[in-house]
Amino acid sequence: MHTKKLSNHLYIIDLKPTGVENFIASYVLKGEKATAIIETGPTCSIPNLLSGLIEIGVRNEDVDYVMVSHIHIDHGGGAGTLMKHLPNAKLVVHVRGAPHIISPEKLWEQSKLVLGEVAIAYGEIESVPEKRVITASDMTSFDLGGSVQVKVLETLGHASHHLAYFDSDSQGIFQGDAAGIYFPQLNVTIPTAPAPFNLEMTLASLEKLAQLQPKRLYYTHYGSVENGVERLKRYEAQLHLWASVVSEAVKRGDTIESVHEQILQKDPQMKAAIDFINRHLVIRKGVVMQNVHGYVEYFKRKLLA
Ligand SMILES: [Zn+2]
Repeated sequence: MHTKKLSNHLYIIDLKPTGVENFIASYVLKGEKATAIIETGPTCSIPNLLSGLIEIGVRNEDVDYVMVSHIHIDHGGGAGTLMKHLPNAKLVVHVRGAPHIISPEKLWEQSKLVLGEVAIAYGEIESVPEKRVITASDMTSFDLGGSVQVKVLETLGHASHHLAYFDSDSQGIFQGDAAGIYFPQLNVTIPTAPAPFNLEMTLASLEKLAQLQPKRLYYTHYGSVENGVERLKRYEAQLHLWASVVSEAVKRGDTIESVHEQILQKDPQMKAAIDFINRHLVIRKGVVMQNVHGYVEYFKRKLLA
């Protein structure tokens, strides 16, 4: 079993990319008249997503929408491969993400450049035919029937093409990478801030999500967590803490390795996670270093401006 029922309408599937559990999730939202999958994960875990659908009793032909928060390989990289198995589904994506989902060659090259061996392990990104793509903008809503409505929230900052999705039935938000990575086994978050990261936009997006007073957050990385508003506030405080550490370090001209070390020591959540981070190559190289780098680049740009 790698699925779990979260509410009457909602299921989580552990995609287990390259065998790593509790790291990337897809969610399945079933209304009375339509079914949506939120997040696809990378290409390598599409077989696990499809077997998850069987486990929860959803037929491939019954999926109407595949909604991705954004097109980074760990969230939407598997969309092209997945859509081949879902004859009736449309893919929902931000307007600036759509061209890269339709013609993913540059996105795949960029993913390999940034993530190296992790991108290779995640698998090549396949194209989604243009006629199957729906570009969603802020406040677009999708009526899945009964009490299940999905509202689209443009939430930029982590990326210039990021959407979150609000589920009216469970009052929860599928936040993508807008509110960090959550490690349930540690009760710790790590900021999701790869270059070109924008702190102001990220903070504005968090405020926008908080205004909806979500009861819970559904993390792609990873899982359903209660007290949504409190979680958002805690994440905001962590972003400010990183900002104060990194802005001072950039002014002094510290090396990236030194900034990385300072973050691990000065952020209590990161300190609590050091052993865990060092045990997992994907998290150390693909997550923590990328995000420290994004913060450093952001403050370097500000210093030059
Ligand atoms: Zn991302």
